[in-house]
Amino acid sequence: MVKVVYKTTELLDIREKLNNESVGLVPTMGNLHKGHLSLVEKSLQENNISIVTIFVNPKQFGPNEDLDEYPRTLEADVKILEELHKSYPKKKLYVFAPKDEKEIYPNGFSTRVEVDNLTNKLCGSSRPGHFAGVTTVVYQLFAITKPHNAYFGQKDYQQFKVIERMTNDLRLNISIILMPIIREIDGLALSSRNQYLAEDERINAIYLNKTLKKIEHSLSLNGPEVAKNEIKERINESPAGTKWDYLEILDADYLSDTTSQTSHFIIAGALFVNKTRLIDNLRIKS
Ligand code: AMP
Repeated sequence: MVKVVYKTTELLDIREKLNNESVGLVPTMGNLHKGHLSLVEKSLQENNISIVTIFVNPKQFGPNEDLDEYPRTLEADVKILEELHKSYPKKKLYVFAPKDEKEIYPNGFSTRVEVDNLTNKLCGSSRPGHFAGVTTVVYQLFAITKPHNAYFGQKDYQQFKVIERMTNDLRLNISIILMPIIREIDGLALSSRNQYLAEDERINAIYLNKTLKKIEHSLSLNGPEVAKNEIKERINESPAGTKWDYLEILDADYLSDTTSQTSHFIIAGALFVNKTRLIDNLRIKS
């Protein structure tokens, strides 16, 4: 059985009684798909106790973003977690799904956790305040659940780097584990936002991963300078109804410009398909 917890006080109580058992945390905004489930499965494999949090965090949405439309499907989410849990009957699985924002941000809450540098590029430059919202909520979730391991998807690679930085800087003593991107057969990364796409938009959405792959090909063949030039051409080719927010090749470790010392590249893109903003990336050894 999966135990669903709505109140922070109840979760704190449960956590206190867990003694030394290994705890894995999977923070999500719900509307779970196979991408999320791959993180949960890894946590079930590696920990006695797993906690999946489901909270659509208002602090990480900008004023013109999709906070109100974001799909909330708790009942279905719990069902698919119960299905997955059947394969791990000896492990405990909790869902923490606060019904009220005040469970996470009680009255008077006035603290912001913010990582510098890594957050001023890629998604950070087009979504001001987004990463401060993410680090603030993840810090809170860490404080409530006190995990040994926390699982994040490469789909949000910049988010992973920012959380890894926060965890190291604040000496939180939590292992931050990166999990591969789960994709549809045609390459589109699974995302809760994919369901906003109409049929013709779904066709254009493939263009994001296709372009990243073309750049990967050029990068491995011709090196980063030629590949960076190619980005300009690719941006101009984008089909009607799509618009690049960014498309860049960076050093994957530092999210900085590539140098001769770069050990891994990250090719990261954000594409608007009409109003829906999709992100994807490829991480490649240099
Ligand atoms: P979200 O619910 O969008 O906040 O995502 C929760 C976690 O699931 C984050 O660590 C995401 O990176 C991860 N995630 C989302 N989509 C995928 C995917 N397609 N493959 C792997 N992980 C994913």
